[in-house]
Amino acid sequence: MSYTDEVYARVVAQNPGEPEFHQAVKEVLDSLQVVIDKNEEEYRSLSILERLVEPERIISFRVPWVDDNGVVQVNKGYRVQFNSAIGPYKGGLRFHPSVNQSILKFLGFEQVFKNSLTGLPIGGGKGGSNFDPKGKSDREVMAFCQSFMTELNKYIGADQDVPAGDIGVGGREIGFLYGQYKRIKGLYEGVLTGKGLTWGGSLIRTQATGYGVVYILDEIAKAHGDNLKGKTAVVTGSGNVAIYAVEKITELGATVVAMCDSNGYVYDPAGIKLDIVKDIKEVKRGRIKEYADRVEGAVYTEGKGIWNIKCDVYLPCATQNELDLDGAKTLVANGCKYVAEGANMPTTLEGTQYLQENGVLFMPGKAANAGGVATSALEMTQNSMRLSWSAEEVDAKLKDIMQNIFKKVDEAAKKYDMADNYVVGANIAGFEKVVDAMKAQGIV
Ligand code: NDP
Repeated sequence: MSYTDEVYARVVAQNPGEPEFHQAVKEVLDSLQVVIDKNEEEYRSLSILERLVEPERIISFRVPWVDDNGVVQVNKGYRVQFNSAIGPYKGGLRFHPSVNQSILKFLGFEQVFKNSLTGLPIGGGKGGSNFDPKGKSDREVMAFCQSFMTELNKYIGADQDVPAGDIGVGGREIGFLYGQYKRIKGLYEGVLTGKGLTWGGSLIRTQATGYGVVYILDEIAKAHGDNLKGKTAVVTGSGNVAIYAVEKITELGATVVAMCDSNGYVYDPAGIKLDIVKDIKEVKRGRIKEYADRVEGAVYTEGKGIWNIKCDVYLPCATQNELDLDGAKTLVANGCKYVAEGANMPTTLEGTQYLQENGVLFMPGKAANAGGVATSALEMTQNSMRLSWSAEEVDAKLKDIMQNIFKKVDEAAKKYDMADNYVVGANIAGFEKVVDAMKAQGIV
């Protein structure tokens, strides 16, 4: 049995009931095979892989809060501090009913490589709760956030662990969390990113993940003598990442014809009008279905299946495992050329393999959506320096970071004779830096 297979078998045996974590580990270990084979003796003697797949620490806690009817509710809270070899733990908080330890471990594991790829000094972590902010009043969300932070504050800090937003955690939640941290600790420090612009936030952070996806996509196209002008695109989800991916790709001349939420999808052959989506999602917190009521010629379909819409570019920006093998087959049959993952692990292992084997240029989330965390790290820098950069400055840095990520990923794939295999490229490039730091820091 190869070293990577041994470690994978051990992960499955020692982490039962955690399929998402197994899946993330498998993807990484499989694509590291070529590097591991070259250094197997050294890595085995240092148990590099065994240490890499084991989080440094998992904090799990009770989050009691009182709802608007005066009833006490209890949720689970977590922070997975996965790897701090290259910097303080950094990664979002997710509030969604599906949150469990497996999902947060997969996200934390991915984050380690993603953060390494940005070239910035940040380790990997992730956290969250099975709390569902949907349908809750602002007061209920505040009560929950304050209770969550009352426990979490013990384990985080500007030089220790710096959480950010993720699914279900946007500006409102970050505000309530930050307020409670400041109240308990008496510190006005950059302990969270994604803050509001009047209290330490960075310009472009809101747009960064979506813009970054499109910046790297543009690099892929250019590297193949192509560009995004005139392309037809489908962007899944209609949250933070999706909205700003649509904004940027439209600016670069593509037409986005479909978006979705967890209930269904809208198809607008004339091109999605983003101001209407923003009004529905960012202002009214409504459903994507309302788009079809407001825009003539747009059609709403209940349920899954957005991949059936013909496109050149497909950007999955909703959630994990949203695109499976059947979806991938349909995309290929319809002539799709590019897939860049805005979400984390939105494509299943089989789906990814099929896309790659059928000539689709596929950029995995850990590279494609790294613009969000990179801009969070820029927010940390501005907080430490007590200054604010302009939107143009931050956007230019973001673009530069995404171009560099593409370069690193592309070069790593080519170095191991796997040109255009960006999954392998991203995993190897992210891995090499983390392992170098782990080796230098001894057995910790
Ligand atoms: P949001 O909560 O803002 O939006 C998520 C969107 O995805 C919503 O439109 C949601 O619809 C939709 N969605 C959720 N589940 C499904 C499903 N099963 N099928 C179809 N649509 C679904 O989250 P973000 O935009 O912030 O995050 C999206 C993804 O991007 C996540 O994987 C996240 O980890 C990743 N990411 C986010 C970053 C960020 O900076 N925000 C950074 C890097 C990665 P509904 O409203 O119905 O739930």
